[in-house]
Amino acid sequence: MLVDSHCHLNFPELSNNMDAIRAAMQSHGVGYALCISVNMREYPQVLEVACAHDNFYATVGVHPDYENEPPLTVEQLVTEASHPKVVGIGETGLDYFRLTGDLEWQRTRFRTHIRAAIEAGKPLIIHTRAAADDTLRIMREEGAHRVGGVMHCFTESLEVAQQAIEMGFYISFSGIVTFKNAASLKEVAKQVPLDRILVETDSPYLAPVPFRGKTNQPAYVKYVAEEVAQLRNIDAETLALATTDNFFRLFKHAKPCNS
Ligand SMILES: [Zn+2]
Ligand SMILES: [Zn+2]
Repeated sequence: MLVDSHCHLNFPELSNNMDAIRAAMQSHGVGYALCISVNMREYPQVLEVACAHDNFYATVGVHPDYENEPPLTVEQLVTEASHPKVVGIGETGLDYFRLTGDLEWQRTRFRTHIRAAIEAGKPLIIHTRAAADDTLRIMREEGAHRVGGVMHCFTESLEVAQQAIEMGFYISFSGIVTFKNAASLKEVAKQVPLDRILVETDSPYLAPVPFRGKTNQPAYVKYVAEEVAQLRNIDAETLALATTDNFFRLFKHAKPCNS
């Protein structure tokens, strides 16, 4: 049984097809999905999706690509994070690829999320793009090791992965690891310790091969997992067991359905 550790099921491409999405998960052996918040306006929809289904969980946070959002406070995040379906804080982090100019507001908001995660005792979902050094520096300065979390949709070097792992973080691979031109990322996927790997879709984006360019969905995390297993020369079942174990170890507030 696999877990999709990162998807956006409240986005209309997916939320309008929930029955088909859930049926596909079942037929692909995907038992659980973590629904990720990108801003506070849409967060109630994320929570609603998670609350409607036992095997879905939610996070609360504001994605670094959303610039013009109302000010966000630690208290606000901590309050929302007290909901039993909310198992993590994010997605948060830094993105110097999509946005340029003075991004001090992004770094400030990232710190707010880390402080909230520590106060709430729930792990972080971190997005980092073209900003690895600042991301690791701020994680270190704010003591992110106290809660840990996941470096989602990982595309950085093994060295960056190792520094995050030392801070108690997990490395999550997305459909990008299935792309032909992702040679260096495939190498990282071979090296990261098995007990620190998660898999995700980031759906509706980033559909893995053989669906590249199409709308992604949680069922397709199977193809990500198969690629990672193949790269590591282990069977898909071993990888599925390990990543599912890892997920429930990290997100300890996520209750498996049979417990
Ligand atoms: Zn992201
Ligand atoms: Zn995302």
